[in-house]
Amino acid sequence: PEAIMVGELANRMAERVADVVKALMQNGMMVTQNQTIDADTAELIVEEFGHRIVRVSDSDVEQVITTSEDKPEDMKPRAPVITIMGHVDHGKTSLLDAIRNAKVVAGEAGGITQHIGAYQVETEAGQKLTFLDTPGHAAFTSMRSRGAQVTDIVVLVVAADDSVMPQTVEAINHAKAAGVPMIVAINKIDKPAADPDKVRAGLLQHEVIVEKMSGEVQDVEVSAHTGQGLDELLESIALQAEILELKANPDRNAEGAVIEAQLDVGRGPVATVLVQKGTLHQGDIFVVGEQWGKVRAMENDRGERVKIAGPSVPVEVLGLNGTPEAGDVLNVVETEAQAREIAEYRAQAAKDKRAAAGAATTLEQLMQKA
Ligand code: GDP
Ligand code: MG
Repeated sequence: PEAIMVGELANRMAERVADVVKALMQNGMMVTQNQTIDADTAELIVEEFGHRIVRVSDSDVEQVITTSEDKPEDMKPRAPVITIMGHVDHGKTSLLDAIRNAKVVAGEAGGITQHIGAYQVETEAGQKLTFLDTPGHAAFTSMRSRGAQVTDIVVLVVAADDSVMPQTVEAINHAKAAGVPMIVAINKIDKPAADPDKVRAGLLQHEVIVEKMSGEVQDVEVSAHTGQGLDELLESIALQAEILELKANPDRNAEGAVIEAQLDVGRGPVATVLVQKGTLHQGDIFVVGEQWGKVRAMENDRGERVKIAGPSVPVEVLGLNGTPEAGDVLNVVETEAQAREIAEYRAQAAKDKRAAAGAATTLEQLMQKA
């Protein structure tokens, strides 16, 4: 598909055909709605209309997803999305649990049972924070490789009795590569062997200069076990979020990222989606990676049914035709035909790519044998 019909392009952008024809005319092209234009021209027109083009391959314009760029006045503050990273056993899971438990009213329905791989809490000051419970490193490597950038802030957990370890360094590198600000949580401060200054000195060796060492990276001493420092950590996150001035337009077709997905025996394919732009509604038609679907039902992080989910809100989505991959991007589109077409196109493109890669290895193997 190196060309697209003018009428179809207008349809994809949800613009009037007459307006598209007029725009083409102004660019020196006399065409009717049933004529086709090449990919480059289509892209030019798409941009003129303030839409974004999603190309799966260089020549492909079938992948126009009708999302206009957001106007500055439509941007509203959104909650920061936080990933906790650090060396194994330094207390990532414990810290995530401690934060959630501290913020969930005891005895509340659903209680401390987490339903999905992400949750939202509210600080004393009323600031909402979204925590991702994905293994931090996977959130960076696999998700970024699939085009999703989900994290705004990294909380780097370092055990005060163990200091900087190989995966600590890995986490620092991930955060730096992604350009995501870090906050250091020096955990297990309750332990007699805790030596927080050793942690700070260790971090310095990797060019992470914390505030206590006159640097700019916030550092907080915490204990996931006693709860010490947790409020301070949340305040630090809120402060960092304020500096980032995170915003999204809630009044547009939703775009989000798959945090995790699986095939549920009773419910079919289920995906936890972090909404990043717009608002996802029950009944919305969407394409997600090579899959598509229609939102049949949504559940929030407490297992409650919800009908809408705005920016930075994680929800479990039912109604997929297949199981997407973590890191796949979800886009709401106008019609089922459009969703199916894009999903099928992507699936075919991926299949072709795999076939080509397979052929290459076979050839390589043959060469080696020869
Ligand atoms: P993860 O591998 O980073 O997710 O680490 P975990 O949360 O599984 O914790 C590893 C071990 O450290 C567990 O035995 C925890 O109980 C313990 N632990 C975690 N946080 C603390 C803490 O603040 N104080 C103490 N004393 N132990 C902790
Ligand atoms: Mg863990």
